[in-house]
Amino acid sequence: MSKKKIVFKVPVVRVQFDGMRFPKKCPVCGKEATMNSRISFATKGIQRASPILTSYPTSGVSHTSPSSIFVPRSLLLYVCDEHYRSESGDTNYKVICFVINVVLAAASVFVGLQVANHLWVGTPVDISTLSVLLAFPVSLLITAMVLRSGPLGSAVKVVGFDSGISNIWLQFTRDDYREAFMRENSEHAELVKWIMKS
Ligand SMILES: [Zn+2]
Repeated sequence: MSKKKIVFKVPVVRVQFDGMRFPKKCPVCGKEATMNSRISFATKGIQRASPILTSYPTSGVSHTSPSSIFVPRSLLLYVCDEHYRSESGDTNYKVICFVINVVLAAASVFVGLQVANHLWVGTPVDISTLSVLLAFPVSLLITAMVLRSGPLGSAVKVVGFDSGISNIWLQFTRDDYREAFMRENSEHAELVKWIMKS
């Protein structure tokens, strides 16, 4: 498997998953945090943490067993009221989007067949019929936007993890938050400029 080096303009933090502590301030705005919020990350999806397998930048040892790492985890961190995002709320959105997409996908197949039939026999296709076909990609787009993590997901990103998820690589947008995080985890975190993607 070929490896790719990913270099970060702003350093990312490598930290041991166990014992990791988040500073009690909001990663989005830097204000004092008042509540907990959980951000999920899986090897696929939500966080847009693409399924990156990383090795220690220093050791050069690669951990390349993609099948063994599909363990979704989440991070519990502190946020202010304003940037609090509940996980149950997120889940509801996802379920609604999923149902809408399934219905539209089915409708698109049905309408697609009708359109094909119209074209086959040479009768004009109704605009409203075509609009159903258009609704599906629009709905997919909306879903993608909903599933995209909000401000919190942009402020804290999981950019990689090793095979046992004993270490994860985190990217923070706020410098002060990164510094606070480093202070909080001084024993088991380090700043890195690049990771190897397997
Ligand atoms: Zn905030």
